[in-house]
Amino acid sequence: MEYQYALRLRSQWFNKGNPDCEHPRIERETYKGTDTGDDVCTTCGKGSPRGKVRSE
Ligand SMILES: [Zn+2]
Repeated sequence: MEYQYALRLRSQWFNKGNPDCEHPRIERETYKGTDTGDDVCTTCGKGSPRGKVRSE
């Protein structure tokens, strides 16, 4: 998922009251098509170092 899109998801999630998310689906985060080395949740937009989204 593109970084810009993840940012948008994050602000939408925040506007919903920032509920808990179990991060059911995780994708690699890219910036202008380049892998950033992070993962991002496709539901809430949370980004974390690869493999850490669910553990933080
Ligand atoms: Zn999530």
